[in-house]
Amino acid sequence: MKIEIIKCLKDNYSYLIFEEETDTVSIVDPSEFISCDKVIQKYKKLNYILNTHHHADHVDGNIELKKKYNPIVMGFEGDKDRIPGIDILLKDNQIKKIGDLVFKTIFIPGHTKGHVAYYFKNNGVIFTGDTLFSLGCGRIFEGTHTDMFYSLNKLKILPQSTKVYCGHEYTKSNLNFCLKYDFNNSVLKEKSIEINSKLKRNLPTIPTTIGEELKTNIFLRYDNNDIKQALNLKDSSDQEVFSKLRDLKDTF
Ligand code: ZN
Ligand code: FE
Repeated sequence: MKIEIIKCLKDNYSYLIFEEETDTVSIVDPSEFISCDKVIQKYKKLNYILNTHHHADHVDGNIELKKKYNPIVMGFEGDKDRIPGIDILLKDNQIKKIGDLVFKTIFIPGHTKGHVAYYFKNNGVIFTGDTLFSLGCGRIFEGTHTDMFYSLNKLKILPQSTKVYCGHEYTKSNLNFCLKYDFNNSVLKEKSIEINSKLKRNLPTIPTTIGEELKTNIFLRYDNNDIKQALNLKDSSDQEVFSKLRDLKDTF
């Protein structure tokens, strides 16, 4: 499995997946036609589009790519009326293949009510859209804080080596937020050096891994005592701490 990171719009990432055995080309969340097509042209074909959710900055390339390459578009069944050009409606936990690559659709509502992740277990890769970011999580637009909390917990339990490819380059602002409330975290401080050096060279900070996120992403660390202390929420439940963090980030 070869993954090409495609920078789109201001800070979006689309991902091209190439599977050599069966010469299958797929794209996750084509934000826009032109940037994606530049990369697809090298392969001269596009077999599949996988959309994590219906927002314009994740589906705007669908129709033009469909016209040019006639790929099969997949997305969550609940979003059948708002993902442009959708052909295959996926259910939670459904197993599918693109070429030889097997993936599972994991339903993770909160950012939107039809958001999914695509998990390629055999390859140790997951595409998380706008739910789990490097050092952050998505804004809650259509779901509830509880939805987002349980969705992130579904991702937390994946193998730590799993590589995470998310929908945006939000790492720097997420890092600043994490540092504000998790200032004793030495792993986070180390990671900040790596992030800053990548960004200085104009490189993506993606992928991250589940293991790294467990150690550094404050939205997965709501049970950490230092963080609870920093928020003045020593006796609060995990979900209360998570909700407070999400609210604080909205105005950060
Ligand atoms: Zn979105
Ligand atoms: Fe987005």
